[in-house]
Amino acid sequence: MALIVHKYGGTSMGSTERIRNVAKRVAKWARAGHRMVVVPSAMSGETNRLLGLAKELAPAKPTTPYNRELDMLASTGEQASSALLAIALQSEGVQAVSYTGWQMGVQTDSSYTKARIERIDDERVRADLDAGRVVVVTGFQGVDELGNITTLGRGGSDTSAVAIAAAMKADECLIYTDVDGVYTTDPRVEPDARRLAKISFEEMLEMASLGSKVLQIRSVEFAGKYRVPLRVLSSFTPWDIDINEEAVSGTLITFEEDETMEQAVVSGIAFSRDEAKISVLGVPDKPGIAYHILGAVADANIEVDVIIQNLSKDGKTDFSFTVNRAEFARTVDLLKTKVLPTLGAADIVGDTKICKVSIVGIGMRSHVGVASKMFRVLSEEGINIQMISTSEIKTSVVIDEKYMELAVRALHKAFDLDQPAN
Ligand code: ASP
Ligand code: MG
Repeated sequence: MALIVHKYGGTSMGSTERIRNVAKRVAKWARAGHRMVVVPSAMSGETNRLLGLAKELAPAKPTTPYNRELDMLASTGEQASSALLAIALQSEGVQAVSYTGWQMGVQTDSSYTKARIERIDDERVRADLDAGRVVVVTGFQGVDELGNITTLGRGGSDTSAVAIAAAMKADECLIYTDVDGVYTTDPRVEPDARRLAKISFEEMLEMASLGSKVLQIRSVEFAGKYRVPLRVLSSFTPWDIDINEEAVSGTLITFEEDETMEQAVVSGIAFSRDEAKISVLGVPDKPGIAYHILGAVADANIEVDVIIQNLSKDGKTDFSFTVNRAEFARTVDLLKTKVLPTLGAADIVGDTKICKVSIVGIGMRSHVGVASKMFRVLSEEGINIQMISTSEIKTSVVIDEKYMELAVRALHKAFDLDQPAN
């Protein structure tokens, strides 16, 4: 008898009919003898709807008190869907109870709209499971030290599910979603993309951080830290398919890089349009410059990604980096008011029409020439590379946004990702 956590995404919870299907599926797992904890997202569109309402009424400058209310508001989406799922389970003849984050003791820090889970108190859930109940836990939300409701960032129910699985030492955490697994790249961009039966945890972490939206990055970090066995699978298979078949479907995120792993050098191509490039021109080339520029940015809680500093000429250099596109205006504003005047830099220029395309694979560790092959493929397509960043298992390039699809397809083909693995 295993302890299993199921997580259902917003699309899977999108209507009462779909919620009924989720309930039937969960009931099937419970009847097979498993102890079940279920974490649903808000019904699809609900979080956007709520945040849209807030936007209409929002003050000119977002403040911490405003962000607090955003969490108070957005957390209700999950609360509603959790209760609905518990009701649907009861209709299936299954004993079920739902809990909010605070009833469950999901303790977070106080960073509203992107809080981090610090602790989970699973005592109550264990008692319910012992009494034979299915427990529905409201995803996406927690509570800070002072009792304020917090949320975990968009897509945060994934993290709730994994964190609960970690806290309870679940045997497996199954993330049911509207795709049937993790693909070599987004099939909407490359129709020949293939589903991976397995992907290593490290690759998944890179894919998630580089723009693949299948899982929230924090959920993968959590899974890695606590070694939670994680599987991404479709919620759109018929609910009554054979449970043994269902249990091995989708993509398993694995910690062992065993022989059965696909032997490809590159496992996937990730991309992201959510990028913007900022260059600070003519900065004096002396110690402390990077700290001076990026320190101010970090203090404003803005995440910086790819960074390059040019060779200096006449004691001056150019410094470029990328940020999330949504943070572009704020970053430029900050640099102009806080950094330019004290730094003696000449100017700041920005470009929001860029994207980042990355190849990812643990095979890159043991193979040379993978990055150069990437550069060759892009040059053959006439695509100019603006920035490059590498790690042990990935190479990313920043290019003009209009070539994104072309780059993804060309790389997908060049690295044989359209070919079934042996
Ligand atoms: N409902 C939240 C969102 O849309 C959290 C989630 O679905 O994971 O971001
Ligand atoms: Mg999601």
